[in-house]
Amino acid sequence: MLRVLVSGCLGGAPLRFNETGVPVSSPIWDRWAAEGRLVSLCPEVAVGFPVPREPAEIVGGGAADVLDGRARVLEVSGRDVTDLFRAAAQRAVDRAVQAGVGIAVLVDGSPTCGSTYVHDGTFTGVTVAGSGVAAEALRRRGIPVFPHHQLDRAAAALAELERVSLRPRDR
Ligand code: SF4
Repeated sequence: MLRVLVSGCLGGAPLRFNETGVPVSSPIWDRWAAEGRLVSLCPEVAVGFPVPREPAEIVGGGAADVLDGRARVLEVSGRDVTDLFRAAAQRAVDRAVQAGVGIAVLVDGSPTCGSTYVHDGTFTGVTVAGSGVAAEALRRRGIPVFPHHQLDRAAAALAELERVSLRPRDR
């Protein structure tokens, strides 16, 4: 059985920078939970960020640029937290591999977990298409990442992965 890496704040745990969580109301989520598929991790808290904490944004590029050393992650006060965000991304990859994860479902918009959009680095509430650093690292490792608002797509992808992995090998 393939498991699903999920953002630690998904389901309501108040782990976000502003001490809130993201509620989920979905039969898909309930089924995954009953099947024991959910592997919950907050990459930021896992590397020592407190709750609450300063908001952070990717500045000077995208998540791929952060991983490759060409862009930074800054807190709103200006503290450079790039290395911690890279460590958080690695923590997510390690956990996913260790747990036998097939896909990830992460909270969109976060500089760590975002998978379709992130904030634009100006701390003005403006968003742009892009990924968070952990989402990018997971994709580089071959793990598909879906935003929390696309559980239907995520479930379809997981079913297809399991169908392929359970198919008898061609002789
Ligand atoms: S880093 Fe991810 S799991 Fe942690 S609070 Fe932010 S969105 Fe949620």
